[in-house]
Amino acid sequence: MKAQRMRPGDPRRFFSTAQFYRLHAASGGELVSEPTSPVHAKEMGTRLTVCGLPADNWFKYCDLPFDNDPSDRCPECVSVLAGLRRNHSSQ
Ligand SMILES: [Zn+2]
Repeated sequence: MKAQRMRPGDPRRFFSTAQFYRLHAASGGELVSEPTSPVHAKEMGTRLTVCGLPADNWFKYCDLPFDNDPSDRCPECVSVLAGLRRNHSSQ
């Protein structure tokens, strides 16, 4: 039987965060923010990014999957999360 509760290290607990971003108007006139610095992964409830940077007041992209567009992703966060996903799926 598979556990449904999230555990520490579960890849689903991570969201994207960026230190710098800009606001621009989307097609509907709605303001959306776009990261202008590398996007890091951060685990819910922690103060550091996966690669160890303090990210308390960084912009959080809760609806942006971390691996959506790897070109602007922090390589260190990407490799740590890739390792977690491998471990998680083999359990
Ligand atoms: Zn990072």
